[in-house]
Amino acid sequence: MTDLEIVRIPSLSDNYIWLVHDPVSGETMVVDPAEAAPVLAEADRRGWRIGQIWNTHWHPDHTGGNAAIKAATGAIVAAPAAEAERIPTLDLALAEGDTVALGDHVATVLETPGHTAGHITFHLPGDAIVFTGDTLFAMGCGRLFEGDARQMFANMQRLAALPPETIVYCAHEYTQANGRFALSVEPDNAATVERMKAVDAARAQGEATVPTTIADERATNPFLRADSAEQLAERRAAKDAFRG
Ligand SMILES: [Zn+2]
Repeated sequence: MTDLEIVRIPSLSDNYIWLVHDPVSGETMVVDPAEAAPVLAEADRRGWRIGQIWNTHWHPDHTGGNAAIKAATGAIVAAPAAEAERIPTLDLALAEGDTVALGDHVATVLETPGHTAGHITFHLPGDAIVFTGDTLFAMGCGRLFEGDARQMFANMQRLAALPPETIVYCAHEYTQANGRFALSVEPDNAATVERMKAVDAARAQGEATVPTTIADERATNPFLRADSAEQLAERRAAKDAFRG
């Protein structure tokens, strides 16, 4: 169990920004700030000072708040080296195996390309936490804008191998649409059927369905459960066309 305080900040239409505070060191960081204002307001309200920004990839709905948060706080931006040109606010360029830390909480960088060419995931093994950006979603995976199914299959295999209790903080509330597709792929998967009941109930109340866990994704996620890159490719193409 982690002692990090992790606050979910909804942003834009369906983004989640994660504001993370270590009570021991007093340090605070933010993952994928789509925008600055709600992040600065939340940190202010809690009396936290943001010292770091961690970006999973360059898309504006993950980096749009970088410049204003840096200007307001002096925070350092840690982001994928492979996307440095597209993240002009970058201070610390990260590649596979690099580490960043919030106090004593160390994150290892996993390169997880596919959604974008340089997408990275932050894994904090000591906290059993992973920030997956737009790579792994609850019952889904990111669209393949700059990479291919082979890369995404490798990502899914890698994330599936994390300890099952690992908590997955992804960057969007896509669970209900993902779950409808998951049910179309595996209509007889009892875990998916059960999960969708809970998801539908939560969404009807306007509640978030993120974070998730590696265990739940192993049980219900049709992309994590794909047994080959070819199967993942078929499912990704079917999801892109799915109107459930
Ligand atoms: Zn994205």
